[in-house]
Amino acid sequence: MKIAELLQKKRTLSFEVFPPKADIPMDGIVETLSRLYDFKPDFISCTYGAGGSSRGRNIEVCTAVQKSGHLAMPHFTCIGNSRDDIRVLAKEYAAMGLENVLALRGDFPAGWEGTRGDFSYASDLISLLGAEFPGLCLAAAAYPEKHISAPSMEMDIAHLRLKQDRGAQFLMTQLCHDVTAFERFLEKIRKAGITIPVVAGIMPVLVAEPTIRMTIYNGCSIPAELASIFGKYQHDPESFTKAGTEYTVTQIHRFIAAGINGLHLYTLNKWKKITEILKTAGIHDSSF
Ligand code: FAD
Repeated sequence: MKIAELLQKKRTLSFEVFPPKADIPMDGIVETLSRLYDFKPDFISCTYGAGGSSRGRNIEVCTAVQKSGHLAMPHFTCIGNSRDDIRVLAKEYAAMGLENVLALRGDFPAGWEGTRGDFSYASDLISLLGAEFPGLCLAAAAYPEKHISAPSMEMDIAHLRLKQDRGAQFLMTQLCHDVTAFERFLEKIRKAGITIPVVAGIMPVLVAEPTIRMTIYNGCSIPAELASIFGKYQHDPESFTKAGTEYTVTQIHRFIAAGINGLHLYTLNKWKKITEILKTAGIHDSSF
C-alpha cells in the first residue's frame, strides 16, 4: 500500500523508530514495535544512520515491521551513495515488498563537507528513484522553521517545491515546538504551489538536555510555554517529564487543529511514554 494513497482517504497515525546498534540484540526494538502495533498505526518509519552506518539494521527493522503485517517506510539518504548504490538498495526494497521510502540528503557525518556521493540534494535522489522505480511512493523532509543551512525560508520552500516537482508524494516535517510557525509554514507552502499532504513530526518533550540539544541542532525555536517548563523543572527530571508529557499532549491537539494530514510520533523507541501520551490525548488507534 502506498502511503500517499492512504493520505487521500484519511488522516494517518504513524511512528518513527531507530534501529539498534550492530552489537545490540533486536529484542528491545521488537518489543517496542509490538507495543506500537497496539495503536494500529498506518505505517512505521525507521531512521538511517549517517553515512549508512545503520543500513543493515534499518533493513532488519523494516523487514520485522513488514512481516508483522504493518507498513514500513525506510529513511534513505544520499550520504556516501553513488547512483549504483542507490539502485541496488531500491531493488532490495522492492524485493522486500517495500513501497514507501523517505528520500533524504542526510546529515553530514562529523568532518564531512558534502555527501561524498553522486548527489548533493534530496531532490536529486527523488529524481532518480521517481524515474527508475515508479512503484515507490516517495516522501520528503520539510522544515516548518526552515532547514538550518537554508539562507531563507523562501529559498528553502523553493527547494521543497523542487522535491514535489521531481516526484515526492507527501512531506514529513522536522520537529517544531511552535505551532504558530507551523501554521505560517503551511500557508506559505500552499501559496508556493506545494499541494502534497503534510504529515507532522511530533517530538515528545521528555528529558531536558536532549530536548534542548535537538532543538538547537535543528535551529528550531522554543516558545515561551516550553521555555517556562525548562525554567521550572530543568533540574527536576521527574517533574520535567510530567510537564513535558502534558505539553506534548496539548501540542498534538494543536497540530491536529492546524489541519495536518497525518500525525507522526518520533518515538525515540520509548513506547511506554508514547503510549501514555497518545492515550492521554484520547488517541487509541489510527482512526483518531
Ligand atoms: P535537502 O532537501 O537536500 O535540503 C538540504 C539543504 O539544502 C536545505 O537547506 C535546502 O534548502 C538546500 N537545498 C536543497 N536543494 C538545493 C539546491 N538544488 N540548491 C541549493 N540548495 C539546496 N537524517 C539522517 O541522516 N537519517 C535519517 O533517518 C533522517 N530522518 C529524517 C526524518 C525527517 C522527517 C526529517 C525532517 C529529517 C531527517 N533527517 C535524517 C535529517 C535530514 O537528513 C537533514 O535535515 C538534512 O540536513 C537535510 O535533508 P533533506 O532531505 O531535507 O535535504
